Amino acid sequence: MTSDSGVYTLKKLAAMGWSPDDIKRGRQSETLIPVARGWVRSATADPRVVAAVKAGGALSCVGALRFHQAHDSSGIWVPPGHNETHVRRSKHMKGKPRPSGPFRWCQGYGQPLPVVTAVDSIPLALNCAARCLTPEEWIATVDSVLSTTEWTIPDIQAEMGRVAKAVTGMFARCDDRSQSGTESIARLRLIAAGFEVQVQPDIGTHEHADLRVGALLIECDGRAYHSDAEAFRNDRRRDRMTMIDRWMTMRLTYDDVLYNWEEVLEDIRAVTRSDRHRIRRDNDPRRRENSSI
Ligand SMILES: [Zn+2]
Repeated sequence: MTSDSGVYTLKKLAAMGWSPDDIKRGRQSETLIPVARGWVRSATADPRVVAAVKAGGALSCVGALRFHQAHDSSGIWVPPGHNETHVRRSKHMKGKPRPSGPFRWCQGYGQPLPVVTAVDSIPLALNCAARCLTPEEWIATVDSVLSTTEWTIPDIQAEMGRVAKAVTGMFARCDDRSQSGTESIARLRLIAAGFEVQVQPDIGTHEHADLRVGALLIECDGRAYHSDAEAFRNDRRRDRMTMIDRWMTMRLTYDDVLYNWEEVLEDIRAVTRSDRHRIRRDNDPRRRENSSI
């Protein structure tokens, strides 16, 4: 779960087997470049991490989550935007001037925790992100951590410092079955709109759709998915299969959910309304008797 950012404390280097002489030689040959007091970097260190450490902290929050996403090849979903370098400053820097630049100074809930690594762990990053992201963005991010990494909610909570009431409330709305950020956000928005939402409902014997509202199955395409021929064929096969069972399927893209939600919601309302009418007609005994077919 640890990734190499190329920025280390001298303590960490010693733990990695560097003797004081090795460090001295590294500095002379510029294999090790000083960053801040007690911190050095390699020549190829991640520039955002270097900037965060120079600014007196660790890369945290959205920045750390993006770092883990890129370096651990995990499927963590991080919301778009939030492009500043998110820094959690060491408590020793309290009261010291903040450098200018595209920084965002993040602090999680609870007492400030020490900065011991150049990039915050996923739990620490999530604690900061709980105050930087919208609840919807944060829950979708946690869903992706739960479904694509080994982290569980108790493990995250044990390492994130103080778990604020607001954070506990957001954890309760997370769902580790979610397959994409698009799906998580669609789920949260449908629930907020008053729908009863089934997550990963069964279709056929071995397969699941993403979400279900009444007789409407909602398939949410993550940006990276459904781009190859096999996925395309698979979608068509699933559509045929679900049609036999009389489900309706609506396919939503990332942009539909993130940027065009009002229109999508209107469509879902229209479809589920007509669905209710249809069910009522089917269940009406007089209509059944009078039906000619
Ligand atoms: Zn932040």
